[in-house]
Amino acid sequence: MKKIQMVDLGGQYQGIKEQINSSISNIMETSSFINGPEVHAFQKELEDYLGIKHVIPCANGTDALQIAMMGLGLEPGDEVITADFTFAATVEVIALLRLTPVLVDVEPDTFNINPLALERAITPKTKAIVPVHLFGQCANMEVIMEIAKKRGLYVIEDNAQAIGADYEFTNGKKQKSGTMGEVSATSFFPSKNLGCYGDGGAICTNDDALAHTLRGIVNHGMYERYHHDVVGVNSRLDSIQAAVLRAKLPLLDEYNKKRWTSAQKYSKAFEGHDNIIVPKTIAHSGVVSSPDLHVFHQYTLRIKNGKRDALVKHLNENGIPSGVYYPIPLHLQKAYRDKRYKEVDFPVTNQLVKEVISLPMHTELDDEQIKCITDKVIAFVNA
Ligand SMILES: *Cc1c(COP(=O)(O)O)cnc(C)c1O
Repeated sequence: MKKIQMVDLGGQYQGIKEQINSSISNIMETSSFINGPEVHAFQKELEDYLGIKHVIPCANGTDALQIAMMGLGLEPGDEVITADFTFAATVEVIALLRLTPVLVDVEPDTFNINPLALERAITPKTKAIVPVHLFGQCANMEVIMEIAKKRGLYVIEDNAQAIGADYEFTNGKKQKSGTMGEVSATSFFPSKNLGCYGDGGAICTNDDALAHTLRGIVNHGMYERYHHDVVGVNSRLDSIQAAVLRAKLPLLDEYNKKRWTSAQKYSKAFEGHDNIIVPKTIAHSGVVSSPDLHVFHQYTLRIKNGKRDALVKHLNENGIPSGVYYPIPLHLQKAYRDKRYKEVDFPVTNQLVKEVISLPMHTELDDEQIKCITDKVIAFVNA
């Protein structure tokens, strides 16, 4: 059996090696490292793939979130609501811009922001909502968009973990993640579903005026060379990363389907084991999940009998990597504590941080590896 890895970028590279190597050496020959043709081509190809008018490439997903918030003109003191259970980048940029982060609880079955908790947290100062499409599945965008519309709030989708996923509305209509809010941010960090070989990110929007503003902000606030109209940043995707992304984008649906297929195999193996709760995919139109609705950035179980930490250790001792995403709720992180938060407002996050474990998930998992992992998990949790 091949050694089990949490992500296997080396294995994936073998399948696209020739194309990647030749486009990277072409960049070396032409020395068009920044803002070269590869970046523009990738931008267009991602716009086509997502069916969105504007993609603004930038240096990483965290920048993408920050620039999106700057572009919307959010100002110090404005409240921005996001999920308590996510990677810190989301809340970090809110705080960095001197906006006021307001963290709310998530849903136990999808791990995504709870729209009822979100609605309760709205005050006259609230300006924006940042739903995070966690682990590869969209947040409840139908309800979130309704709330935002009713209350006049911006929606900034954090799409770092769900690129390529569809969201299904109750009428059966589907829309791609990252195309529903005013603006969205994504990351091309190597281990993300569409990852490059370094750092990268993008901001996406259908709004022409906002896109223009964002293109200036990523480039030192310049719309005309050496005319700085607004305070900007320096945030660029480089040509080498764009070349890697161009090789991988046509394979994204296939890669996501491989992840989904492995997830189905995991879940089937765990069926009937009461202490192991498998991730749930929300499919309004029917009971069956389809590969587009969850792109499994992570495959995350909940272990109900208090053995999560022991399981992590046991798997590790048996050569099986796993991850705890995330071990501490954001509202309890030193940097983001706030007297307004009450523990009773976060029952789900407080529970999830003790129960979740993410198993190896990537495009190269094989049946033998999945069987080895599921056998070890089941034997330990049931013992
Ligand atoms: C990875 C990630 C980010 C940040 O992306 P970087 O490219 O690492 O800056 C933001 N939000 C979420 C939910 C992420 O998973």
